[in-house]
Amino acid sequence: MAGNALDLVLLGPVGAGKGTQARRVSEKYGVPHIASGDLLRSHRAQDTDLGRQAKTYMDRGALVPDDLVISMIVDRMRQPDAGHGVLLDGFPRTLTQARALDKELEVEGRRLKLALYLQVPFDVLVERAAGRWTCRTCQTTYNYRVNPPRKPGICDIDGGELYQREDDRLEVVSERIRVYVEDTVPVVDYYRERGILHEIDGTRDIESVAADIERQIGAAVW
Ligand code: AMP
Repeated sequence: MAGNALDLVLLGPVGAGKGTQARRVSEKYGVPHIASGDLLRSHRAQDTDLGRQAKTYMDRGALVPDDLVISMIVDRMRQPDAGHGVLLDGFPRTLTQARALDKELEVEGRRLKLALYLQVPFDVLVERAAGRWTCRTCQTTYNYRVNPPRKPGICDIDGGELYQREDDRLEVVSERIRVYVEDTVPVVDYYRERGILHEIDGTRDIESVAADIERQIGAAVW
């Protein structure tokens, strides 16, 4: 079974549309959507040791140290629901994390099938991310211009309150995008060299991007 697991990575800076696409893929293929940023925020909300350590980095848009993030993701990947594959979102962000992921999959007799890189120009990213609102309960994100909620301030899915994340403010967003691109270029190159990278034009509408992603997954599992 392990050899047939569907393990995928979704790469792209904040505002590229990763969250929206990841939720769709997760539902369609039945693999858990594991978002490192969501996990870290939930540690902060529960005021765990990790949450307290991560806070100082997250508030200034910097990366949380590799060892903390890697052990958090490995723990999550060992949960029973992750046995048939995972869709990782926001992880890996550094080469060290990418290598740790390979090692963890290898232990399970699995291999990463595909790394999808959602590409969007810098100015579009800043505009999208700075107009972003997140549901307090389920973390679904909306953008008042691109995909607004049906009722202002209320999540379509569970009726939760929408709020603007502290790190989605304009200055922090620009810094997060800069850090993302700078740190993640080596990860993108790493997957390109392995022949499992697929770059996707993330400026198109949500449906076209989703169709492209499905085609790539279909080709990768064949
Ligand atoms: P995100 O929701 O993916 O934009 O992540 C929010 C913040 O969490 C980032 O700005 C980082 O501070 C931290 N973070 C999330 N994922 C990682 C990761 N893989 N490595 C290091 N820091 C991370």
